[in-house]
Amino acid sequence: MVNRNITSNKLKTNDLKVHEGEDNGSPSRLFVAGLHGDEWRDTSELLHTISPPENGTLAVIPMVNDGEYISTLDEQYYTSVGSRIIDAVNSLHPNIYVELHSYSVDNFAKLTDEGRINKTGVPAYIELKDGVLLGSVAPYIRLKHFPMDALCISFEIQKNSERSIHFAAKLLDVVKNCVSRDDFIEYLEDKFPLQAKKAIENYKSFYGL
Ligand SMILES: [Zn+2]
Repeated sequence: MVNRNITSNKLKTNDLKVHEGEDNGSPSRLFVAGLHGDEWRDTSELLHTISPPENGTLAVIPMVNDGEYISTLDEQYYTSVGSRIIDAVNSLHPNIYVELHSYSVDNFAKLTDEGRINKTGVPAYIELKDGVLLGSVAPYIRLKHFPMDALCISFEIQKNSERSIHFAAKLLDVVKNCVSRDDFIEYLEDKFPLQAKKAIENYKSFYGL
């Protein structure tokens, strides 16, 4: 599905693209990829090729930044190289926000380590299928820019894995047609009940519920 021989010029267009559906643009969704370093190689094409949602609006930023690798857990991220994300959030007020990241297989254990919460302040990623991991977004953007009932998630896609990219594309098609956080939770509970339970626990513990 992904042609990695494609010249990076096409992939490096970093414009915000908005797909308008029915229903006066509501709900509003924002998907972003290529947040740092070379992660665009495995993620940007997914947003270049995504089709419009059945209803509401889907805005995409396929390439946020292909330069310096600054972690999204670093608060500076969203005020420096990631500031275009905040600009988009401020103008679109999405209630569904998705970050697409990618990881080397060597980092799988670190990302899914149950002790991650103590080491980094964010919960361990949860594997869904085919190396696609589900996690939360950085507390900084979550707390400062989104209401509690927004759906804010990040997917980690395994680098150089067609399987992983293919499943991520399927997931994005599900999320782009969700109208609310609960819609996505319903999908998870149906297809990935154990992972859903864990994700809900993480959410509750983040908000002290
Ligand atoms: Zn990343």
